[in-house]
Amino acid sequence: MTIDGKALAQSIKEDLRERVESLRLRYGRVPCLAVVIVGDNPASHLYVRSKIDAASFVGIDGMEIELPKDVSEEELLRTVSKLDSDPAIDGILVQLPLPRQIDPDKVLDVISPTKDVDGFHPRNVAYLHLGRPCTFPCTPKGIIRLIDSTGTRIDGKRAVVVGRSNIVGEPVAKLLQDRNATVTVAHSHTPDLAAITREADILVVATGHASLIDGSMIKPGAVVIDVGITRDGAKLRGDVDFESASKVASFITPVPGGVGPMTVAMLMENTIECFEQRMASLLSAPSEL
Ligand code: NAD
Repeated sequence: MTIDGKALAQSIKEDLRERVESLRLRYGRVPCLAVVIVGDNPASHLYVRSKIDAASFVGIDGMEIELPKDVSEEELLRTVSKLDSDPAIDGILVQLPLPRQIDPDKVLDVISPTKDVDGFHPRNVAYLHLGRPCTFPCTPKGIIRLIDSTGTRIDGKRAVVVGRSNIVGEPVAKLLQDRNATVTVAHSHTPDLAAITREADILVVATGHASLIDGSMIKPGAVVIDVGITRDGAKLRGDVDFESASKVASFITPVPGGVGPMTVAMLMENTIECFEQRMASLLSAPSEL
């Protein structure tokens, strides 16, 4: 069965819209998300548009800040710091990738962990790995929701994650482990990848290598989550060959319409959670209001 990420994301956004409305009634304002985009990468502009559109659907104030591709690192850090110290802004996202002259780590360091809606700040990353409350990164969080939507019990399952990036592979492996799966992380130096992927009851693929996984590499009945996005002319291709894989898997996400919309829905959820936590802490320290 195909897992309809678009429909799941839509129903989550509808629930979030009600949550935002009740926050508006309670606090007299809605969460505000600032999205910073540097340069003219068309894919990045598309992603930012979909985030701003989702914010508007949910009732979150979305603010887009565009900077030229030759902006200096200093100027970008100044812009982000200003957003960070603005009490009217609850969440900040700097769209990646950034041009070469900018060190993305420095940018993350100037965002407060409490406004880091992407869950990329070192404190959020450390807390995730320590099992302390934190903002989870959007894509891994969405992947767990997609698996849960199939009714699959993660506890006790063999899970294989292909890809070990800081934004997808590593954190999703940790979230699966937290749900008591036995997790193997494979990567570009893994020999005989097929032997590993064939062991997976739950297979998450996040490599950016189009059609890396085909049906012969999948255990019959596995749940397959395809995170990859590769542009092929006007088409988007995943890391999994849907045609052959869907004959073997019990559930599989399509590309597009699987993980992508869930990433955006989770960004909205994270923004709302950051807002709720900030409002709660401001109310307990009213002098800062
Ligand atoms: P990355 O380039 O940072 O990491 C890729 C990982 O894949 C690396 O760990 C590498 O070791 C592994 N890898 C590469 N080739 C491999 C191979 N032949 N065999 C086994 N492992 C291999 O990428 P990323 O940021 O994790 O993103 C991965 C893909 O997911 C990209 O296509 C990206 O566009 C997509 N993505 C989608 C979403 C979404 O919302 N749908 C979000 C984030 C990333």
